[in-house]
Amino acid sequence: MEKICVAVRVRPPTPESSSETGSSHWKVEDNRISLYKSLGTPISTASYAFDHVFDERSTNACVYELLTKDIIHAVVEGFNGTAFAYGQTSSGKTFTMTGSETDPGIIRRSVRDIFQRIEMISDREFLIRVSYMEIYNEEINDLLAVENQRLQIHEHLERGVFVAGLTEEIVSDAEQILKLLDSGEVNRHFGETNMNVHSSRSHTIFRMVIESRGKENNSSDAIRVSVLNLVDLAGSERIAKTGAGGVRLTEGKYINKSLMILGNVINKLSESAKLRAHIPYRDSKLTRILQPALGGNAKTCIICTIAPEEHHIEESKGTLQFASRAK
Ligand code: ADP
Ligand code: MG
Repeated sequence: MEKICVAVRVRPPTPESSSETGSSHWKVEDNRISLYKSLGTPISTASYAFDHVFDERSTNACVYELLTKDIIHAVVEGFNGTAFAYGQTSSGKTFTMTGSETDPGIIRRSVRDIFQRIEMISDREFLIRVSYMEIYNEEINDLLAVENQRLQIHEHLERGVFVAGLTEEIVSDAEQILKLLDSGEVNRHFGETNMNVHSSRSHTIFRMVIESRGKENNSSDAIRVSVLNLVDLAGSERIAKTGAGGVRLTEGKYINKSLMILGNVINKLSESAKLRAHIPYRDSKLTRILQPALGGNAKTCIICTIAPEEHHIEESKGTLQFASRAK
């Protein structure tokens, strides 16, 4: 198990926030981040250090380059890889994973990069399958086929853990995947909370399975299978802040629980080199689905996104605590 790479990214203040409350309260210096009052006086002397800290001027291109490119290249070589975006609603998770017209996010960049790498490898044949799913209230839904709802996780001696009935599209180029993603996006669960009009209440997992074998028939060229998971997690905000009741409250409980379990799993993984601890993958659907790609020969990174405005300071501290536990 390799060390999990942990990064923090602070998004720019939104245009809606006033100049007073909207200025950033976080100061980024190299790979450290600390809390400041708006006019530059430190609120406390504590600063947090991570593998990377990206300030509000950083682009998705830069995040991809420093954080995920190596994982993507390893995936083409036969390693498993996973990248997570963690943070409260409106902190920039989807911006980081999906991106904008002018600055595509990690998913698009990964897909393009993978096909570019594959084209350069002339002595192997590749088969690529993609799936796209969400976990909403601990139920797994297929985002590539709306009729596939509430899918079950099965375990098979040879196949390992898998989601029964999940669509796996065989794809032959990057553009084909990007079209599938656009149609899947429409199927995502959106809800309205006080925090954000279209806050996402589900975890989404974009998955690519890359299978390859040598073109020459010699035995040293065995079949390689690797899995890449790109995960846009549900908002990590605590329930009280969303002012929720009913459906929103139920969603919030599921989200908080599964994020807590994810934190436990990651925390155990990062110390298990020494301890050989029991890792509680089975405690949530998210960690069960990701299990094969988290342990073993996997490369993992987490990008924790921060909203810089003053009224988000408490949530931001919570996010930094999650990030610190993952190191
Ligand atoms: P989340 O998915 O965490 O709820 P979003 O990614 O939807 O948050 O971001 C909230 C808003 O902030 C969106 O309008 C998004 O375009 C914008 N935004 C987020 N991060 C950045 C960034 N790094 N640069 C510019 N705009 C950003
Ligand atoms: Mg989002």
